[in-house]
Amino acid sequence: MITTDIVIAGCGIVGVSIAKELRNRYPDLNIVLLEKEHSVACHASGRNSGVLHAGFYYSPDSLKARFTVEGNRLLTEYCLRHNLTINRCGKIVVAKDEKELEGIFELKRRGDKNGVELEIVDEKSLETFEPNARTFDKALYSPNTSVVNPTEVVEHIAQNLSGNVKIFLREKFIKREDDTTISTNKQKIQFKHFINSAGLYADKIAHQFGIGQKYTLIPFKGLYLEYKDKNLLRKHIYPVPNLKNPFLGVHFTITAAGKIKIGPTAIPAFWRENYRGISNFSMGEFFEVLYYESKLFLTNAFRFRSLAFEEMKKYYREYFIRQALHLVKTIDTTQFGDYLKPGIRAQLLDTETLKLVMDFVVEHGENSTHILNAVSPAFTSAFSFSKFIVDGVEQRMGLKTKH
Ligand SMILES: Cc1cc2nc3c(=O)[nH]c(=O)nc-3n(C[C@H](O)[C@H](O)[C@H](O)COP(=O)(O)OP(=O)(O)OC[C@H]3O[C@@H](n4cnc5c(N)ncnc54)[C@H](O)[C@@H]3O)c2cc1C
Repeated sequence: MITTDIVIAGCGIVGVSIAKELRNRYPDLNIVLLEKEHSVACHASGRNSGVLHAGFYYSPDSLKARFTVEGNRLLTEYCLRHNLTINRCGKIVVAKDEKELEGIFELKRRGDKNGVELEIVDEKSLETFEPNARTFDKALYSPNTSVVNPTEVVEHIAQNLSGNVKIFLREKFIKREDDTTISTNKQKIQFKHFINSAGLYADKIAHQFGIGQKYTLIPFKGLYLEYKDKNLLRKHIYPVPNLKNPFLGVHFTITAAGKIKIGPTAIPAFWRENYRGISNFSMGEFFEVLYYESKLFLTNAFRFRSLAFEEMKKYYREYFIRQALHLVKTIDTTQFGDYLKPGIRAQLLDTETLKLVMDFVVEHGENSTHILNAVSPAFTSAFSFSKFIVDGVEQRMGLKTKH
């Protein structure tokens, strides 16, 4: 048995950012980070688009709106300060038709309320920003959307968590033994406060603490396809999304290294780490996910049936590619290459209302904190979101603030 002040389960961007914030405020606290994999950022945090979002999609009363603008600024500063790869290329949101044009204005309104720098540009001036973007009448230009190498960022944060912070790799949270003890696959750990930032398994861990019982996670798979000609674009190009669901639609992303890809899809997956083939298959998860997906399908909650059909069609490569073609004026479709590393979104479902939860969710027990639904843009928001989480931990632990 070992003893520590704080245990954090999960070394994605959220777990390491919380540890960084705690270490900055309280260098004397002993912190243990548990990660079940051989390294950090093996799941969503190392398998995403790496886009630092500007913060204009989210309704102004949401936690996402509250943390994305500042999160973008803090992570940008961090990358610049530590010489990490960042491509500050900016982004264009384009409209397909008159109906989507209204979506452009709605995004601008939301952005204005959230304090995001944005510009509505007409077709002519759009050419000066991104000559290959195709839009109906007007487009939205976001200068502060950039892109990083997400794995590089998480590894850098983790490597610099010196002092009283220990990272235990290949060590999996297994069970809550009692109010102050958990067991892993290797040992028992006694703690004062437990923080759950376990991404795709955050709901399972929270349930052991009696927290978040009405929630379950539904995995959605994000596939990417590379586009080999780097000269196609200068900026990310996104469609106007359906603001009623949490996904942004297939778009063009320029990576931090200047490569181009389309994606991600949001295909319902059948188990939590269902990346390729039958990798990480779990029978229990399969039946559980199938149960909820069937329920959503039958009740057609939040129009899940059409979402599922639409997304499943994207397994068909030609259909997937077609979703991106209307975003650009000219493209050579023979330049689409291999599928890239896919990611899985840990999307929270409220099992009582059968609704996908749109915002981040943080719930506290007496001596535990659970981060549920750290969906996009939780990568972008991580530094500011973790300040908020640590404020809550501070209160519960009765720590004296020195910051
Ligand atoms: C396809 C895709 C594209 C995205 N694009 C963007 C984007 O462009 N910009 C953006 O801001 N956000 C994006 N996101 C969202 C972003 O990736 C996530 O919000 C963020 O990575 C969540 O971080 P996390 O630390 O909560 O989860 P994770 O990175 O999944 O980390 C959780 C960690 O917990 C570990 N773990 C799980 N169970 C246990 C256990 N029992 N014991 C120990 N460890 C455990 C896992 O191994 C994992 O390392 C995207 C997500 C996906 C899937």
